[in-house]
Amino acid sequence: MIRLGPAGSGGLGNTKGLEEVKKLGLNAMEVEFTYGVRMPIAEAKKIGVLAKTLDIALSVHAPYYINLASFDKEKVGASKKRIIDSSERAHYLGAKYIVFHAGFYQEREKEEIFKIIKKEIIDVQKTIKKNNWKVNLAPETTGKKTQFGDLDEVLRLHKETGCEFCVDFAHLLARDGNISYDKVFDKLKGIKYVHAHFSGIEFTEKGEKRHQKTRKNDIIPLVKFILKRKTDITIINESPDPIRDSLETKKIINSLRKL
Ligand SMILES: [Zn+2]
Repeated sequence: MIRLGPAGSGGLGNTKGLEEVKKLGLNAMEVEFTYGVRMPIAEAKKIGVLAKTLDIALSVHAPYYINLASFDKEKVGASKKRIIDSSERAHYLGAKYIVFHAGFYQEREKEEIFKIIKKEIIDVQKTIKKNNWKVNLAPETTGKKTQFGDLDEVLRLHKETGCEFCVDFAHLLARDGNISYDKVFDKLKGIKYVHAHFSGIEFTEKGEKRHQKTRKNDIIPLVKFILKRKTDITIINESPDPIRDSLETKKIINSLRKL
C-alpha cells in the first residue's frame, strides 16, 4: 500500500488539516513539533480519534533542535526529552513513528558517533517501553554531510537497536548530489514497511539548502521504483505546499498504475 500526505497541516491546524487531507483522498499526515512539543495530551487524544475515524495514518516529527551526540551533556538530555515528549504525544495520537534528525558528527569519526547515538536511542527506547507507549523511534536520513544519518547508518541503527527509520529521498539526493534508486531499494530489501519523506530540494556541495516544490521529474522516478518493487510505503511530502504536492503525487501514481 502507498499512503500519501503532508508534513504538517499546510497552516490549517491539525483538525482542519486532517479534514482537508481526507477530502482530497489522501491518507497520511505528519504532525510537526518543529520548535517544541506544546500539544496538550487531551488534544493529542482528540486528534488521534479523528485521524482514526478518517483512516489517516499519523506520524510525528520531533523538534529540529536535537543532537544526541552533543559534547554538552545538558543538550543531550534536552534532546532526549524532546524525543520522549514527542513519543508521549505520538502514543495518544495513535502515531506509530517519531521522526527526528539524530545528531551531528562535529568532526568526529562516524563510528564513534554511531555508538553514541545508538546508546542514547536504546536509552530512550527504555522510557518508551516502561510507559508502554505504542510507538517507534525513526531516525531520518539527513541532507548534510555534517549530520549523522546516511542510509547505511539509519539501517544499521534499525538492525542493532530495533528502532524504525525514515528515508528522506530528497535528503539522500542533497547529501550525495545524486541518488541511485536501484541502490537505495536494494538496501531496503527485506524491510516490510518504509516511512519516507519527499519533496523537491535545493542543495549545494555542502548538502541540503531548502525543501522546494515537488516537480514531476523529481517524483516520477521514485514512484516507478515503488510500483516496481511493490513497496509498502508512506510518503510524507515536505515541500512548501505539501498538501497540493501530495495530491499531485497521487495523480502521478494513478496514471503510472494504469500503464
Ligand atoms: Zn525529512
